[in-house]
Amino acid sequence: MSTTGSALRELHRIHKQLTDLRSRLDRGPKQVAASEGAVRRMELDAEQAKEAHKKARIASDEKQLQLKSREARIEDLKSKLNQASSNKEFQTLKDQIAADQQANSVLEDEILESLERIDILAAKVKKAEADLANAKTEGGKVKTRVDSEQAGLESELARVLSELKDAEGNLPSDYKQDYARVARVRGEEALAEVEGEVCGGCYQMLTPNMMNELYLAKPVFCKSCGALLYLAEGRGVGD
Ligand SMILES: [Zn+2]
Repeated sequence: MSTTGSALRELHRIHKQLTDLRSRLDRGPKQVAASEGAVRRMELDAEQAKEAHKKARIASDEKQLQLKSREARIEDLKSKLNQASSNKEFQTLKDQIAADQQANSVLEDEILESLERIDILAAKVKKAEADLANAKTEGGKVKTRVDSEQAGLESELARVLSELKDAEGNLPSDYKQDYARVARVRGEEALAEVEGEVCGGCYQMLTPNMMNELYLAKPVFCKSCGALLYLAEGRGVGD
């Protein structure tokens, strides 16, 4: 049969373990959700990169078609030069040819630029797809790890909860109700070890009267944070 101090110490240890287990159980699904979110973002990035690459290619193809059709027109105008019936018509044709050639030279520069841009965009698509593949692999690893951890944590939680029930059963009867009341709402923070003469939960100084009651193994609650107090090992009666 345990003393009051050791019973409360044990309960506090169990409660701390429960807090830790619950936070780890909570953390796993959050890690999975975060990695799934990263995959979705990268899928979107890859889609956008592909779209930009496709648009640039279409625009470049259009420019090349325009270039070809203008080149054909220049050839056509050149053939008409020989059949010009007047100096005026000859000059008009020559001016048109010069204008088209000038326009094509600008277009050729634009096409070169667009091809360079397409190369850059193609590299971006490649990188986005590689990043996405990595994120999917990593996400899969996180999910596998969390799935196997959750099962272990769940059974550990069940074990510690039954340990808690046993420890609660060992509490002296004059403590039971007071303890149950705070434990229900506060979990781990329902209990606090006395450090020197202060509450280990909120560092409020305890009165000499409270210290006396503690030494007499009576239920003492911190007046500041409401925690059920207990003495460290070796300080209480019977420890
Ligand atoms: Zn306190």
